[in-house]
Parts: sequence; structure tokens; C-alpha cells
Amino acid sequence: MVRSAVDRDDGVMNTTSVLTATPAPMAPTGTALVAARDLTRIWGKGDAAQVGVADASLDVRRGELVAIVGPSGAGKSTLAALIAGIDRPTSGSLVVNGTRIDRMKIDRLAAWRGENVGIVFQDFHLLPTLTAIENVELAIELAQRSTGRRERRRRSIEALDAVGLGGYARRLPAQMSGGEQQRVGVARAMVTGAPLIVADEPTGALDRANGDAVHALLLDQARRGTTVVFITHDLDLAGTADRVVHMLDGRIDTIEGGRS
Ligand code: ADP
Repeated sequence: MVRSAVDRDDGVMNTTSVLTATPAPMAPTGTALVAARDLTRIWGKGDAAQVGVADASLDVRRGELVAIVGPSGAGKSTLAALIAGIDRPTSGSLVVNGTRIDRMKIDRLAAWRGENVGIVFQDFHLLPTLTAIENVELAIELAQRSTGRRERRRRSIEALDAVGLGGYARRLPAQMSGGEQQRVGVARAMVTGAPLIVADEPTGALDRANGDAVHALLLDQARRGTTVVFITHDLDLAGTADRVVHMLDGRIDTIEGGRS
């Protein structure tokens, strides 16, 4: 697996910008950033039980770029939500960046998530009444409460510059295209310096050109050492990953590529 398919300079990135957010403490080098064992997520009981994910075991190394693929309903979003600490498993164990999160209480999990995970959603999830820069600043405000206003602003400007949107800071989401909104979404995911970015079909709502531009930003984050787990239906984009996790009927069917 190579990262070259969309790994190109498309003119939207400021690749010289170095984000200086204070990252959450990293797991020791060489250990898995994500260690999932027999993760199962079931809703309901007995005949009414809905299986999201069953017995999923996966290690993701620090700095690795992992694609999750599979048909609709295969459990991709469920697995991604577990890894991101948005949801908790019914059973199984999950260690992310050195912390066991599978039994963590919801409020602690939210705080942990803010520091450790940047999340990119298919439909952007920007707050509609906040400008681009306010959406990015909010991520720092929620994750790193001790960061002062000026520092929040400085880092948010830097993040918007890095996704090629330095001139869009004061625009509301409704005043931006889908591709631009998603680039704000990526800026928000990376501004806290979280060691892990989880992206659930980040290019799913975008045309090819905008999708490639957003994907290139995620590749750039991975190149800088951030662990990136993304869901895609696009096999070309999946082909840029270090490893591709194929899901089927709630299970990890095969894992393709990589050193393990
Ligand atoms: P994918 O992302 O691959 O399309 P999902 O992870 O969204 O698949 O869904 C996997 C399975 O889990 C589906 O059968 C879906 O209906 C079920 N599921 C997902 N979320 C819930 C929920 N909140 N309650 C009940 N079942 C759910």
C-alpha cells in the first residue's frame, strides 16, 4: 500500500505551516495507539438485538493511516465511533493512547475524547451560527480549557491557514461550499494536536476534486505523525492507506497490507 494516489499538492494546503498545539501525551513509541480486543456493540436483547460490531480486534500503530471499508451496514461507523470514544462497547477491551476507555464513564470519556481524538464527520457537523474560526476555536475551548483566548485564536488561524482557508475565518458554514466546510472540519480535528483523527466518510458528501483535497489534508496529518483512521467507499482513497480493514456483517473480515 502506498500513499501516492492523491498525495499531491493541489494548491489548497499551506504545507509549511507547523501546528504548535500542545498534544495529549503520546503512547510510548512502538506501541499500538489503538488496541481493540473482541470489541462488540449490540443494541437491544434476544431476537430484537441489533449487532453493530462483533468480536473486532485491531491494533493501529502510532502514525499509521488505516482505511475501513465494507458495504453499508457492515459496522464501519460503529467501529469508528468506538475507537473515537463517541460510543462504548457492550463487551471487549479498548485501549487508546495508553488509556483503557471501554468502561470509562460518559463525562470522563467526553473529556478524554476532546484531548485525544479529532473527529471528522461526513456531513461536517459545524455549528451553523458560529463562523469558521469560532468552530475551530470551540474545539480547543472544549478540549483544553486552560488555553487563553489569544492562543486559541492564534492556533485556529494557523489551522485554517493549513487547510487553505486563511481568508474564510469570518464566514458562516452556510457561506461556504461543502468542500470548504469539510476543510474547516479537518482544521477543527487537528487544532488540538490530538494523536488520533477518526474520520467517518469524510469525503462521502463531496465531489471528486473536493474529496481529493480533503483526503490530501488527512494524508498530510498522517505524514506528520498523527494516527488517522478513516472510513471510505472509495477504493482509490482506501489504496492510500497503510492498511485496509474490510468489514462484513459487523465483523472484521480481512486486513490488507501493512507490516502486521
Ligand atoms: P456502516 O457504517 O458499515 O454502514 P453501521 O456501523 O452504521 O454500518 O451499522 C452496523 C449495524 O448496526 C447496522 O445493522 C445498523 O442498523 C446497526 N446500528 C447502528 N447504530 C445503531 C443503533 N443506534 N441502534 C440499533 N442498531 C444500530
